[in-house]
Parts: sequence; structure tokens; C-alpha cells
Amino acid sequence: MTDHTANDHPEIREAVARLCQDFAGDYWRRMDRERTYPTDFVTALTEAGYLAVLIPEDYGGSGLGLSAAAAILEEIHRSGGNAAACHAQMYTMGTVLRHGTKAQKQAYLPDIASGALRLQAFGVTEPTSGTDTLSIKTTARRDGDRYLINGQKVWTSRAEHSDLMVLLARTTAKDQVTRRTEGLSVFLVDMRGAEDRGLTIRPIRTMINHATTEVFFDNLEVPIDNLIGEEGQGFRYILSGMNAERILIAAECLGDARWFIATATSYARERVVFDRPIGQNQGIQFPIARAYAATEAAALMVRKAALIYEAERPCGAEANMAKLLAAEAAWQAADMCLQTHGGYGFAEEYDVERKFRETRLYQVAPISTNLILSYLAEHVLGLPRSY
Ligand SMILES: Cc1cc2nc3c(=O)[nH]c(=O)nc-3n(C[C@H](O)[C@H](O)[C@H](O)COP(=O)(O)OP(=O)(O)OC[C@H]3O[C@@H](n4cnc5c(N)ncnc54)[C@H](O)[C@@H]3O)c2cc1C
Repeated sequence: MTDHTANDHPEIREAVARLCQDFAGDYWRRMDRERTYPTDFVTALTEAGYLAVLIPEDYGGSGLGLSAAAAILEEIHRSGGNAAACHAQMYTMGTVLRHGTKAQKQAYLPDIASGALRLQAFGVTEPTSGTDTLSIKTTARRDGDRYLINGQKVWTSRAEHSDLMVLLARTTAKDQVTRRTEGLSVFLVDMRGAEDRGLTIRPIRTMINHATTEVFFDNLEVPIDNLIGEEGQGFRYILSGMNAERILIAAECLGDARWFIATATSYARERVVFDRPIGQNQGIQFPIARAYAATEAAALMVRKAALIYEAERPCGAEANMAKLLAAEAAWQAADMCLQTHGGYGFAEEYDVERKFRETRLYQVAPISTNLILSYLAEHVLGLPRSY
């Protein structure tokens, strides 16, 4: 099958696809069944340097652009695997890279690049505020040369498999700020040994194998040196990282969509019912063709968003549209693939039901479809703000 858009970074794509051959369906099924962290897979990716592609060479990474990272994640998902266990190791460090001091970058980035330090926990969402990030309640109170953190985060993925967390907390009460986007600050929280100092992590079991957790802070001390950027400006720093995250997650969705299309196509060729392959029926062909067209269209937007991001131009609209279109294309392809497989789509051994569950996440996280639509309505189309 010709793949019109997945032609950038061909060497990286081939090498990642080769690496993924060692982690086939049976590996992912076992991880999923046991809700186990895919340590071997993450180690292989780390050792191959793929999680450090966005870190500049001066700090031990390969200094490549976002489209290289997107190609890596797309290939992992296209192989039938899932990068959610470690994708955040690629981009969470962006907050330190863009807004940290030289000393902070030197202290952390080389070890993140080598994998000696894992920075893949991102604590923003809270149970009571949800999508309304400006209403978070976790506080960081300055006390001499440290901050004391109190509060709770939810859906903090990979917290048990991370040494550091980028945390967003309130440093000025909401009713005391001049602008509503101020008063929040970003901290690099060292979680090593912190469970004895006021940090509690509780896993949340979900419909997918995602290593996600809820995290409680009870007077956790964080040195002032671990404040990233200026106090009170944290919301801006978090937003600036979100475009990269959306483009990369969109690339994973493309990989999922391509896996569903390839899997459905080959099943439709082979499965014979009424003395002919089911793929001979247009009722089977057309949904596959439609999913393919939607995926190719989404891929163009993902590529466009990545190129604008790499050119350091504003890409909020494109990053959001890439995420929206790719997540929808993946879900359309997932539904089509399951239907094409009939009853066998429900059998664990075909991997369709696992990928179906996994790809559903991306219409909710890291940003839900409605919030993307309201962004486009307000910021691109100039419609009145709805919330
Ligand atoms: C598996 C998983 C992993 C995650 N990992 C992380 C992580 O590592 N770090 C982190 O900080 N967060 C993480 N999240 C949280 C994720 O970003 C949020 O779940 C998501 O942003 C939605 O927030 P919510 O669940 O509180 O939904 P809510 O804000 O309660 O919204 C519920 C529904 O209402 C809709 N809605 C809300 N307000 C509006 C409105 N004004 N207009 C129209 N519709 C609206 C939403 O679109 C959504 O469909 C994760 C979530 C999951 C499920």
C-alpha cells in the first residue's frame, strides 16, 4: 500500500520499525493483560537514543526536530505497539529546555538524554478542576529557601516510573492575581525518596495499560532552585509545551490508524465467507478506503503543524487540528477494523480490541475534542468565548 505522507525520516522510520519487531503482539498483550509497565521496550528505545531526539546535542541528545520525534512515535504505533509508557520522556523536558536556567539545563538534561533520569510525569490535571486548569487548587507556599506543596493531582501518568515530575501549582491565590493566567508556577519535583517526605502515589486501573496514578502532596518540600522560570508565569510555560505534545500524540494516532487499516486490509483479503474474500464486498472495502482517506488527510495536517512548530512560528491552530483530525481518523479506523474482523475483532489474540481501547483515549487526553473545537471557534473563527 502506498503511503503518501509517511516518507519523511525514512532511515529513522525503518530503524524504529526494526526495533519494534522484537516487541510483537504477544509482548503487548502480556503487558496489557498484566497491566505491566513495558520496561524492556522502554529500555530498548532509551538505549537506541530515540527518547532523546529533541534534546540539543550540547546536552547529550541528538538535537533533531519535532518531525523526527513524530516519525518515531508514529512507527511505534503503526507496528502495533504503544508509546504511552515513555513518550513523555521525549517532550516533558521541553519545559526545562525552554524556560529553565542554564544551571538547571546542565543539571538535568544530560541525564535525561542518557535515560539515567526519567522525567516523564506531568502533574497538571486535578480532580475538582478538570479541564479548567486555571482553577487548580494545589498550592506551593514559599517558606525560606523552599516551597511547601499541598494538594492533589489526578491522571498523573507514569509517576511510578519517573524520577522527576513537572508540576503546576498555585503560588498566588486566584482572587489576588491581576490577570487570571497568572499566579501559577512550574516546579521540577524530585520524586526519588519523596514518598517518605509527603508524596503519595496511587495507581488508577483503567481500561488500558497506561500506568496512570493519582498523586497527593502533604507539605512536600521543593527547593527554590527547582522553580522553573518566573514565579507566577507557569501557565504560560505549560501552554508553550502543549503544542508539541498535541502534534506528537497526533502522530501516534496516525500510527494507530495505519495499523488498523493494514490489519483490516489483510484480514479482508484472507477471510473467505460465501466462497469469496470478504474484501471483495464493497460494504467491506468502502469503510477501509474511507478510513485511509481520512488518515492521509490528517497526516497532512500533522506534517504541516510539525513544520510550522520547527520553524518556530505560532502553530496553536494547526497543532490542535492535527490532534483532532488524527484522533478521529484513528477512531474511525479502529471501528472499521473491528467491524471488518466480525466476531474475531473481540478476540484478544488479534490485538484489534486492545488497539481499539488504546486509541479511544486520544479523544479525551491530553486535550478533549470539545476543547479543541472551542479553541478553533474562539481563537481562529472569532466566535464569542463559551466558557
Ligand atoms: C489515561 C489518561 C492519562 C492522562 N495523563 C495525564 C497526565 O499525565 N497529566 C495530566 O495532567 N493529565 C493527564 N490526563 C488528564 C487529561 O488531560 C484529562 O482527562 C482531560 O484533559 C479531560 O479532563 P477531565 O477528565 O477532568 O474532564 P472534564 O474537564 O471533567 O470534562 C469532561 C467532559 O466535558 C467536556 N467539557 C468540559 N468543559 C467543557 C466546555 N467548556 N465545553 C464543552 N465541553 C466541555 C470535556 O470535553 C469532556 O469531554 C490523563 C487522562 C487519562 C484518561
